[in-house]
Amino acid sequence: METIEGLILKQINYKESSKILYLYTKNGLISVLAHGSNKLKSPYLNLVRVFSHVKLSVSGKDLKTLRDGEVINRYMELTTDIEKYTYTLHLLETIYYFSSHEHDHEKLFLFLIKIFNKIKNTEDYIPYINMVELKLLYLLGVQPVLDKCVVCQEKKGLNFSVKDGGLCCKEHIKTIKYSNETINLLRLLYYYNIDKDNKIEYDKLSLISLRKLLDEYYEFHLNYQSRSRKLLRELLGY
Ligand SMILES: [Zn+2]
Repeated sequence: METIEGLILKQINYKESSKILYLYTKNGLISVLAHGSNKLKSPYLNLVRVFSHVKLSVSGKDLKTLRDGEVINRYMELTTDIEKYTYTLHLLETIYYFSSHEHDHEKLFLFLIKIFNKIKNTEDYIPYINMVELKLLYLLGVQPVLDKCVVCQEKKGLNFSVKDGGLCCKEHIKTIKYSNETINLLRLLYYYNIDKDNKIEYDKLSLISLRKLLDEYYEFHLNYQSRSRKLLRELLGY
């Protein structure tokens, strides 16, 4: 027997009545087979829900099989609001997609748990999700340069260029696309210390603008867009 603690990112049906769970853990992605978990009387029903933080007892080497377990947090609050639900799905999908990359999974896992605890009780949850998306860029090694011009190291009059991977001075940027407020919000979230819990102040326009920046950045540098993003656009209107 082995114990695995993780966050269930995804589950798929397997054969007639079983499921395969994909857990994000401090060691990265782990899949677990849950026999009969699609049956109404299954003792595993509580252990297989997406969004749940669980501790599972599993057996088997190549294919791990669920034997028992407990729910640490179910995060029901994330599933009651359709916007929040879809935005969190977008986040889980992104974590899942990049879980096969070599990066600091322990750091991301521990951070995700803190983020989930933040967003479950607040209506103002979007900055916390954007925070993960920004910090993930760092873990993946494609973080934006945020303290000087990417080209000449100038520190004044900077704006953001997705293509150049960070801030650029007036000489080295072609089009000014983002407001100072958007760049300040980007910096605030990128450097944010979740344990200190400072207030996140922003205006709605900057948040919308940051969403566009993140979409373009992920698309350009990682060739990635989540499937949930499309639905999210319909719900949020941007
Ligand atoms: Zn420059």
